[in-house]
Amino acid sequence: MTVTEPSAAPAAEPLLLELRDVYAGYGPFRSLFGVDLQIPPRSVLALLGANGSGKTTVVRVASGLIVPTAGHLYFDGTDVTGQRAYRLAQQGVVHAPEGRSVFASLTVEDNLVLTFREVFGRRGTKAKLEQAYELFPRMGERRRQLAGTLSGGEQRMLSLARVLVRGPKLLITDELSLGLAPVIIDEVYETLGTIRDSGCSLMIVEQHVHQALTLADQVVVLAKGRVVLSGTREEMGDLSEKLLPAVHGEL
Ligand code: ATP
Repeated sequence: MTVTEPSAAPAAEPLLLELRDVYAGYGPFRSLFGVDLQIPPRSVLALLGANGSGKTTVVRVASGLIVPTAGHLYFDGTDVTGQRAYRLAQQGVVHAPEGRSVFASLTVEDNLVLTFREVFGRRGTKAKLEQAYELFPRMGERRRQLAGTLSGGEQRMLSLARVLVRGPKLLITDELSLGLAPVIIDEVYETLGTIRDSGCSLMIVEQHVHQALTLADQVVVLAKGRVVLSGTREEMGDLSEKLLPAVHGEL
């Protein structure tokens, strides 16, 4: 008689993104010194720090624009250190462009059609448009409006709609709320929440600490190219007397 072994506990899901002891810079200029950072699937990491602390450099490493001089980058369980940005993009790393990257003199719909046709061809475009309007109902309402006449927040939503349709596993946003009115920042963050709920992980680079904490599961604070504080959002809540000085480079 054969005895059936109890099934082993399911293997832990691999991290979606991991930077392990990463050093990186620009030619002779060193910007990151042994940065460790982890993003599990379907979670949000807020990357905080003062100007020049290395946030954008981390983003560039994570999206393959800069190759670490030492250390490793893993995506979805695979060592992807040294892979080019376009290869990482094909695997699901999408870097949302800064600011309002839309064609101002085209309608909302033409902006979307232009992007979708390039990726999905004429036939695939209709379904993708419907998908985009489902995720961003405001874009559906304003489909005939010229993109240049949308509010700042709406223009950011439109640029997100353009990149999201590629079905990213990880969306990286760099200073998405820069220059927006608080009420509009709330709307943009609501959209980010919807994106997270759709199963995509997020790395959010933000100056607005409190805003980032509304959505983040994990927080990492950089200063002078090093991680000076990291933990869950709850832990950061308890560390508020440390968090703000760290973000402002005073630790
Ligand atoms: P900010 O919030 O001001 O964008 P940041 O936290 O994103 O800052 P980085 O842009 O990553 O910081 O810069 C980290 C360090 O790398 C800084 O000392 C900066 O001067 C340097 N650096 C950034 N880009 C370059 C570059 N193209 N060439 C040389 N040094 C650079």
